[in-house]
Formats: sequence, C-alpha cells, structure tokens
Amino acid sequence: MRAKVDPAAVERTVIPHSDYLTHAKVVTASAVGVDDSVVLTSVGRTVGYDFLVIATGRNCTRPQRRSDRLEMFQRDKERIAAAGSVLIIGGGPIGVELAAEIAMDSPDKRVTLVHGGPRLLKVMGTRASAKALEWLRSKNVTVLLDQTVDVEDLAGSGSGEDDSGRVFTTSAGETVTADCHFVCTGRPVASGWLRGSFLADHVDADGRLAVDEHLRVGRLKNVFAIGDITDVPEAKQGYLAQRQAMVVSRNLRLLLKGAGLEHKLHRYKASKAAITVTLGRRDALSELPFMTLIGHIPGAVKPRDLYVSRTRRMMGLSWNG
Ligand SMILES: Cc1cc2nc3c(=O)[nH]c(=O)nc-3n(C[C@H](O)[C@H](O)[C@H](O)COP(=O)(O)OP(=O)(O)OC[C@H]3O[C@@H](n4cnc5c(N)ncnc54)[C@H](O)[C@@H]3O)c2cc1C
Repeated sequence: MRAKVDPAAVERTVIPHSDYLTHAKVVTASAVGVDDSVVLTSVGRTVGYDFLVIATGRNCTRPQRRSDRLEMFQRDKERIAAAGSVLIIGGGPIGVELAAEIAMDSPDKRVTLVHGGPRLLKVMGTRASAKALEWLRSKNVTVLLDQTVDVEDLAGSGSGEDDSGRVFTTSAGETVTADCHFVCTGRPVASGWLRGSFLADHVDADGRLAVDEHLRVGRLKNVFAIGDITDVPEAKQGYLAQRQAMVVSRNLRLLLKGAGLEHKLHRYKASKAAITVTLGRRDALSELPFMTLIGHIPGAVKPRDLYVSRTRRMMGLSWNG
C-alpha cells in the first residue's frame, strides 16, 4: 500500500526470483494442472517432480514483470496525487492500510472507506476494529460500515482508474463522490488450479489445502504445502509462511537422504500470531496475545522500511541491505 503513495520507497521490494534463487531453474508461468509426478504450466511446458511444495497463496492480478509493476505503482501514485477525493472499497487490512497511507500522506484529500461488514479488520479482534475505526475517523477518513459498492458495476473501470467526480451509490443508498477508487476486497486463495486434480479431495470449502503436522498434503509422502494456501489454524501472515518454509525445507533435506527417515520428520506447530496493520509511516495497530496497541509505539516496532532491508538480507541480497 505504501507503493501507491511512494513508489520509490518500495522499489527494493520487487525482486526477480532469479536474483536470489541463483541455483534454481525459474519457470515464469502459472501452474494450471498437476498429477502425481508432473505440473502443467500455462505456457504448455510440463515440469516433472520428485517432491512438490505448493505455495500459491492468493491469486495475484498485478503485473508479473518488474518494470510493469513499478510502472503500475507510479500510475497509482499519479492518480491519487491528481484526485481531490478517493473511494476505497473494503475494510480489511488492504483497505485500512491504503486509507491510512493516503490520509497521512495527503491530509487535504477526502478519503471514504466503504466496508460491507459491521466492523473493520475482521481478521483481528473487536478491540482492534474499534481502535482502527477511531484512528481513521480522527484522520478525517469517512468510514461507512455495513454498506457495499457493487464492484461488478465497476468492472471495466478498474481499480485506481481516474473517475473524476464520479458518483458511487452504496447498498444503503448513500452517495459518495470520488475522483478515483480502489477495490480492496481481498484476494481469493489460489487453489482453483488444483480442482479436478489428484489433490482436489484435500481442498476444503474455503479453497485451502489440508495439511498434516509435517505440512504434507493428505499424508502424501512427497507433496507439501506452505503459507496462505494451507488450512493451518492460525492467522495468515508472511512471517509464519517463512517458518513453515523452514520446516518443509528441513523435511525435504531429510527425505532426500533416503527412505526410512519419515519418523524423524519435523513438525509445525500453529501459533497465535501477532498481527500488525501499518497506518502510514509513523503509526501502526498491533494485536499482541494480551493487548492491542495503536499509535507511535507499535509504529516504532515495525521498521520504517516495513522489514524490506531485513528480508533482502535474508535472501542474500544487498542494495542498502
Ligand atoms: C495489506 C496486508 C498487509 C500484510 N502485512 C503483513 C505483515 O506486516 N507481516 C506479515 O507477516 N504478513 C503480512 N501480511 C500477510 C502476508 O502478505 C501473507 O501471509 C503472505 O504473503 C503469504 O505468502 P504466500 O507465499 O503463502 O502467498 P502469496 O504472497 O499470496 O504468494 C503466492 C504467489 O503465488 C502465485 N500464484 C498463485 N497461483 C499460482 C499458480 N497457479 N501458479 C503459479 N503461481 C501462482 C501468486 O501470483 C503469488 O505471487 C499482510 C497481507 C496484507 C494483504
């Protein structure tokens, strides 16, 4: 969300996979099918496997090429800069973070957030929702709860499109005039490509893959899953996806040593995650196991660069690392 107001600040986050996977073969395509030994890709190429790790998380509609993605950030910034009023549809972490970024970056803009539920940030507790609402209203963001804007109606105009004084009508009949809008209704879990495959029985009603304590899918010996795609009962957070990746990489190393070591497989234990929602450059909202904090203090815990330097270091990349 920072990219939409300050693209230069996040340039270091857009990293071609080949920069850090220096010994891997990277195939840039979507996986569209899988059987017990081969993955089929959207470019018609098949990739055979002995072990498979599924980490498709959520569908991504952003441009895949680095230059296209940076251009998209720049276009969003220009649209917001040119707008006197901005409509944000969806009050989950994406919508709240975007509303906060715009409100803090340009306090003179009229920002309206329309959310379909009775409270913001339903991934967090009610206390966090109330604090987020109070914080946004204190920054003059108009928040309309229990109302929706028909995003189907907006199809074709695209998120962030220049609307110049367009009037949007909510499900409750309220009208919002805005010069640009952003649809922040969340991204669905990317498991559609598994339907009809030999793994389909392990996809639950929410589209998540059922994994066991070793993060294996359906107790298959050579198929693992990590990250947002899994049904691990914990908040879906990037740092937890990284912990899961560590467990799976250790398990793969063990299994590659040979058969008969299955009893030694490492286990992943779901944890109560701390969730932090960034509110512009200074503030944040943190839900810790025993308390919920908002303002400068949680804002100071999350580094100004949103962990970009730390993540680059972890990946063995420098550039102010
Ligand atoms: C606004 C917001 C703020 C957040 N803040 C934090 C935070 O502060 N800390 C934190 O730890 N987490 C945070 N998260 C959560 C974090 O972003 C996710 O938990 C994390 O990205 C999950 O990683 P993943 O690899 O499982 O999935 P993803 O990040 O969704 O990556 C999956 C990738 O797979 C690709 N893909 C999908 N389908 C296919 C296919 N068929 N073939 C090939 N590729 C495919 C997608 O294009 C995507 O690039 C935040 C999330 C949001 C929305």
